[in-house]
Amino acid sequence: MVRVTCMHCGRGYMLTHEQIARAVEESQGTKRKHYVADCPYCRHGTKVPLRPIRQAYARLKAMGVLPVVAEQEEATSASDSEEEATDQPES
Ligand SMILES: [Zn+2]
Repeated sequence: MVRVTCMHCGRGYMLTHEQIARAVEESQGTKRKHYVADCPYCRHGTKVPLRPIRQAYARLKAMGVLPVVAEQEEATSASDSEEEATDQPES
């Protein structure tokens, strides 16, 4: 769980599993160090460091409680397409 304190209204709230997953997904391949979470009370965005989010993500993943976010490793594409053999009659 990642706890966030709103910069605007000062209230505390938790990031949902979905937000954690999205934050990690969105930050992958970028140099971002923060995720902007929307406060459920005042709707303002608050910057949250990604480090604790990543840790929470890893923990959730280990527990198997993460919502599945399009991350499929299996790529089974066994397509035997018959190539057309150009039969040239030898004579
Ligand atoms: Zn707020």
